[in-house]
Amino acid sequence: MAIERTFSIIKPDATKRNLTGKIISKFEDAGLRVVASKRIQMSQAQAEGFYAVHKERPFYGDLCSYMVSGPVVVQVLEGENAIAKNREVMGATNPADAAAGTIRAEFAESIEANSVHGSDAPETAAEEIKFFFTDAELVG
Ligand code: ADP
Ligand code: MG
Repeated sequence: MAIERTFSIIKPDATKRNLTGKIISKFEDAGLRVVASKRIQMSQAQAEGFYAVHKERPFYGDLCSYMVSGPVVVQVLEGENAIAKNREVMGATNPADAAAGTIRAEFAESIEANSVHGSDAPETAAEEIKFFFTDAELVG
């Protein structure tokens, strides 16, 4: 299995409730390594650009407002099969459907305020990493 990198966000509902460390532990326990990380206040333009793929969805406006409602932690996770592994550790989008032990089952507040983002494919992972990090910020 190839070593991959994926992009992750710890969302505002989680940073507000001081869950950053607990969430990172879930990634580390699953064998994922944080190779880049920064805590930022996302701008409205960044939120709209990052979620542009969803701009026709009814929840797009609310989603962008939510993503700028507090600080987020953007990070790059590395490991074997990291893209799928991260999605597994995150759990389903709707916490009501998320498997026991996943981040969203344990911590998410709602289908919108669901604590974490994770890339869904190699192409989106590469684009999303570039959206927030320069090569020099990926330190291994
Ligand atoms: P995921 O984050 O699991 O990849 P999506 O890419 O489908 O899920 O959606 C992006 C984000 O939009 C979700 O994580 C969630 O914050 C929000 N979202 C998705 N579906 C809904 C919905 N039906 N109502 C409100 N917010 C939603
Ligand atoms: Mg998605």
